[in-house]
Amino acid sequence: MSLAVLHSRALSGLDAPEVTVEVHLANGLPSFTIVGLPDTEVKESRDRVRAALVNSRFEFPARRITVNLAPAELPKESGRFDLPIALGILAASRQLEVDAFSEYEFAGELSLTGELRPVRGALAMTWRAAREGRAFVLPSASAGEAALVEEASIYQAGSLLDVCAHLAGRQPLSRPAARPIAIPPNYPDLAEVKGQAQAKRALEGFRLENWKRRPFRAPHHSASSVALVGGGSDPRPGEISLAHNGVLFLDELPEFDRKVLEALREPLESGRVAISRAARQAEYPARFQLIGAMNPCPCGYLGHFSGKCRCTPDQVTRYRHKLSGPLLDRIDIQIEVPAVREDELVDAGRGEQSARVRERVEQAHGRQLARQGKSNTRLGPREIERFCTAEEKAGALLRQAIGKLHLSARAYHRVLKLSRTIADLAGEATIAVTHVAEAIQYRRLERSF
Ligand SMILES: [Zn+2]
Repeated sequence: MSLAVLHSRALSGLDAPEVTVEVHLANGLPSFTIVGLPDTEVKESRDRVRAALVNSRFEFPARRITVNLAPAELPKESGRFDLPIALGILAASRQLEVDAFSEYEFAGELSLTGELRPVRGALAMTWRAAREGRAFVLPSASAGEAALVEEASIYQAGSLLDVCAHLAGRQPLSRPAARPIAIPPNYPDLAEVKGQAQAKRALEGFRLENWKRRPFRAPHHSASSVALVGGGSDPRPGEISLAHNGVLFLDELPEFDRKVLEALREPLESGRVAISRAARQAEYPARFQLIGAMNPCPCGYLGHFSGKCRCTPDQVTRYRHKLSGPLLDRIDIQIEVPAVREDELVDAGRGEQSARVRERVEQAHGRQLARQGKSNTRLGPREIERFCTAEEKAGALLRQAIGKLHLSARAYHRVLKLSRTIADLAGEATIAVTHVAEAIQYRRLERSF
């Protein structure tokens, strides 16, 4: 056979599209051409594959070698194709007899000595390969990540020679060790938080999922917009995507660059982020729960019982205006967390335990699913109309508050959804005045502007 066809995968955003690696050997002047990669990458890949083959004691065929990576539009990072290219050359030159290539997918960067180096995106590639019903062969260093995909068939290899021995039926490759065992989360109990009743109440606005182990990301306020929302010339996910289905915590919110904060607005609405660069486009999921913390004033002591604050009203206003109206609009719960006096710390005793709060949140979430098949936060405008029905008096209170606080249509919907959640926590079928009143109460920062 002077033609070999193998399967591999590229990485595009969080997806891993299939790549076909065709290796053809023809008679003629010896040459080595790779089609389907940017020029700069081609040379490096050729050098690595040639050196790895020679140093593994194979013969580098003195023929016209053409490698076609299809589709041609591929990410720049080419190293992952070294392994399938080398195997294809061996098969096409009959140094390796394989008839089961179609049952496998391969990825791995070769060192000059033929060792395999880790590749990015092992999880995404393995997930897709498993759906195609193929086994995945990849470097040992990437196998742990790949093993997170349940029911995937994975082989880990240390070198090109290991892979050849496996394919030739001489020495099977090993499987990655047992899947990592999920460690039950061990969060501090809410009962240990003294006082701060309102802050604890606000935490109940959490989605149920967040009580389980979920990502928690807390980037520093010096983070760039690329670091936060993703991007770069070879687009990578940012903190908001790493926090997908979890919490993004921004401490000292006003210290973040305003442009960086504004970039959060769109993902906060849509739950995803689209990044386009000249060459490519990537979309990442970004359904995160944003939690921000800020001081009441630049010095941090405004309203403190010690009376230490010396900030002028002007300074306070300027500080708070670092957060734009449209961003605040998207923050459902804004509360003050006053400092706790020493005597309160002693008197407070133990608060309500997390387990009990959790039970209440689970029940509320169950009600939401039974009523509308999704959590309140995901309701669209028409669904809000249908499912967030309020008592007449409650509706009147809400309309009155909207006018007084100059809230936008978006904020109106958000307050209504939050009222629905508060009613769900109380086990009530209809939104009552108290529920709306509590939801409006949480728009504290906007009221203080
Ligand atoms: Zn101050």
